Amino acid sequence: MAQILRVNMTDRTAAYEDVPNEYKFLGGRGLTSTIVYNEVDPTCHPLGPNNKLVFAPGIVTGTNAPSSGRISVGAKSPLTGGIKEANAGSNWPQLVARLGLKAIIVEGYPQDDGWWGLHITKDGVEFFPADEYAGKGLREIFPGLFERFGKKVGIATIGVAGEHRMAMSGLCFNDIDNRPSRYAGRGGLGAVMGSKGLKLVVVDGAGGPGVEIANQELYDQGRKKLTASILEHALTKPGGALNLYGTAVLVNIINEAGALPTRNFREGQFEGAAKISGEAMAELCKTRGGVGTMGHACHPGCIIQCSNVIPNPDGTELASCIEYETTWALGANCGIDDLDVVGKLTQMCNDMGIDTIEAGDVIAVAMEAGLAEFGDGEAAIGFLEEVRQGTPLGRILGMGTGGAAEALGVVRVPAVKGQGMPAYEPRAIKGIGYTYAISTMGADHTSGYTIAPEIAGVGGKVDQFDIDKAELARNFQYSTAFIDTSGHCLFIAFPILDIASGFEGLIEECSGVLGVNWTADDIMAIGKEVINKERAFNRAAGFTEAADRIPEFMKYEKLPPHDVVWDVPDEMLDAVHGAA
Ligand code: SF4
Repeated sequence: MAQILRVNMTDRTAAYEDVPNEYKFLGGRGLTSTIVYNEVDPTCHPLGPNNKLVFAPGIVTGTNAPSSGRISVGAKSPLTGGIKEANAGSNWPQLVARLGLKAIIVEGYPQDDGWWGLHITKDGVEFFPADEYAGKGLREIFPGLFERFGKKVGIATIGVAGEHRMAMSGLCFNDIDNRPSRYAGRGGLGAVMGSKGLKLVVVDGAGGPGVEIANQELYDQGRKKLTASILEHALTKPGGALNLYGTAVLVNIINEAGALPTRNFREGQFEGAAKISGEAMAELCKTRGGVGTMGHACHPGCIIQCSNVIPNPDGTELASCIEYETTWALGANCGIDDLDVVGKLTQMCNDMGIDTIEAGDVIAVAMEAGLAEFGDGEAAIGFLEEVRQGTPLGRILGMGTGGAAEALGVVRVPAVKGQGMPAYEPRAIKGIGYTYAISTMGADHTSGYTIAPEIAGVGGKVDQFDIDKAELARNFQYSTAFIDTSGHCLFIAFPILDIASGFEGLIEECSGVLGVNWTADDIMAIGKEVINKERAFNRAAGFTEAADRIPEFMKYEKLPPHDVVWDVPDEMLDAVHGAA
């Protein structure tokens, strides 16, 4: 029987609990958001004793379902002040699931200044002093950790940004080669873990009971259908766009659409886009050789494999992974067109435990404030060095986009609920603007990836400039909340939107594990319930509809090259969820 592990950092105790009926058919985001909704006071200070950090593998995580090694992490966010779920791909959640754990809840507050680690095995939980790992780069400490605990463990950790309790800090997991590079990046969850005095969680899945599958036949049938659809779709198949060029295949596409935010969202096209694109990364891997790899997997069992390892001129590792959002944030948004500089910035973020989107937004805001010129790579590196050292400027930048802009007196603040916008201009792609505005997470493209139909023509094609997208945004939010609950990578959305049997496969897989017979309507109902709980949490935390808005400057400042403003009336945003 699956269990929940509850860890108390006040007295450093751990206890196993039976899974309440309410949680039995949930996993991933559905479970983290439900636990946070049930157990965390929405008005609490995110870094105080009453916040909780919740980890939950998805429903099928730990099985051989394709691309399903995802972990959801939930808490009240120090960046937005609302509920947060961020997820990452790693073997870590697969090992948690194999130990029979449906969730890990970290609560309480440390009574001393020391750092602690958790070592979770089939035999229980051991607390160990972790001071020796604090204040250092994650690349420095990872080899020793795997030497100490074994090469097959998984590690979740924070970097110095989380130790400094910065709102731009993320939570880092090891990738398939045991490097610190996979992030539940958004919302400052690293700071929540830091506030609890918890530096790392090491999980060893050896000898665990594994994931129970209630209806093996149904599960197998679903897995085969979903796998076939992933292997067939142009975006996700081997040798497809994501596999060949990574997520950064989007750079040229979004630039062409006039929606690649450039120099702190001043323009929608970047003259240096091609130089920081996925195609440019693939070329570097080819010409420089060495460790350069496109088509890398972030965890065992991913059949899409969109990750990468980008080489230095001498073939050693420059950075892994440079995602679309990363190369945009640290590249175009800062006016930087040098992939070597983008790579160095990426590796610094990964080493310090920083969300790369928030980092790029904050650096651009600092440039907007006049602290450096757009395009100045050395200055950008210097800003991250300030963050590493925790200087006064570094701590201001560490506050994240909304907080740093306020401290620096910047008016053009590309953030919603304090969280920096990702790599799609809402003025030029209206549906993603809906998502940014009304998401429970702050500006977050993964809350409802309407880019699929608006740009990629997946699941039908809609006009990027059409403002009437309340229904589209709602449906994407609900279906996304379910995918995040299932434990699959969000990129399965492409095949399941286009190939009906793939969608059936997702439903059958999850039903097979849980011993239910869900339908498509059930999936949307589950997604809706998750969103409604998150919205209820945010309302109780003090959010009103006034927080569900795109920044004011986007309403009066025209975005080149299309010279468009954000022109979706507030009432249309409010209509997405109505009074629910
Ligand atoms: S598709 Fe990419 S992000 Fe998704 S699980 Fe695979 S490697 Fe990770």
